[in-house]
Amino acid sequence: MKKHNFYAGPSILPEVAYEETIKAIKDFAGTGISLMSISHRSKEFQAVMDESEALFKELLKIPDGYKVLFLGGGASSQFMMTPFNLMNKKSAYLNTGTWAKKALKEAKGFGEVVEVASSADSLYNFIPKGYEVPKDADYFHITTNNTIYGTEIKHDMDCDIPLIADMSSDIFSRPVDVSKYDLIYGGAQKNFAPSGVTFVIIKESILGKMERYIPTMLNYQTHIDGGSMFNTPPVVPIFTGLQTLKWLKALGGLEVMQKMNQEKADLLYNEIERNKLFKATVLDKEDRSVMNICWIMNDEYKELEQEFLKYTGELGMVGMKGHRSVGGFRASTYNALPKESVEALVAAMKEFEKKN
Ligand SMILES: *Cc1c(COP(=O)(O)O)cnc(C)c1O
Repeated sequence: MKKHNFYAGPSILPEVAYEETIKAIKDFAGTGISLMSISHRSKEFQAVMDESEALFKELLKIPDGYKVLFLGGGASSQFMMTPFNLMNKKSAYLNTGTWAKKALKEAKGFGEVVEVASSADSLYNFIPKGYEVPKDADYFHITTNNTIYGTEIKHDMDCDIPLIADMSSDIFSRPVDVSKYDLIYGGAQKNFAPSGVTFVIIKESILGKMERYIPTMLNYQTHIDGGSMFNTPPVVPIFTGLQTLKWLKALGGLEVMQKMNQEKADLLYNEIERNKLFKATVLDKEDRSVMNICWIMNDEYKELEQEFLKYTGELGMVGMKGHRSVGGFRASTYNALPKESVEALVAAMKEFEKKN
């Protein structure tokens, strides 16, 4: 049976990325050697690195003065690396969910952290607005897409101090004005590549201002100087990521991707609103994520939750159980998820409504 993959992460990647990776694992770039077993310093792999950085820059229109790094450690290591490298005494964080809160917690190990606003009291079902960012903080940290709660900051905000963004789960879903950020990072396994590689887009001029010793592997400068090859990079995920970037480019780039994503999200949100059984957890449309769509049963149908999951499971839909902290359902509609999968889900929602 055809599966519809709604997992939140690791999650669906373009078919061509799987196929090209399988080929390269058998014979990489005509070398007769597996991608898993060739030196990362071979000219064939260096070409993969170079093209990956070039396509990052092209697709996101990254201005001069920025570097793209491919590191290990996941987005979670960036929670610590960002303050290590960029926070002298004080930083500011917007608390919009579990990941934002984890990032904030790490920064507390480096000095004073101002939580400028939080939506924790209402189970993170909106993006706080109208807060003030302290001008004397070293940076302001945001999480653009809150994977667990289905909220998203879909615009690039102006900020008087350096802006840092965790874009793990919405990178490449829309065009981004990179010039508004000093640093953007994310784990790969939502919209880019298999887990194992972490991307960092960093404005070089923000480095070199810390008084503390920064351990070599945790120092961004190390990886800039080493071209992400100070140590052995995650070779296979980087290769797969390059295939995703090529797919994105062939599709027409991020404007096209954004339009396709919005269509998928609209289809599903509209059905959630229309269907008598369900309601969305995020009420303000402006805050609704285009990548992770969360909804629950209406109160009078609460007892049907497990049944709906079972029903959609029988139709080949996987990964739709809401995060344990929210309950209900979550459909992740990442770049590579075909519109047909959303259409199949919407049809299943209509059918389930008829039955009940
Ligand atoms: C998944 C996710 C993370 C954690 O990523 P890891 O690579 O597993 O450390 C952090 N932030 C956001 C927004 C995420 O979606």
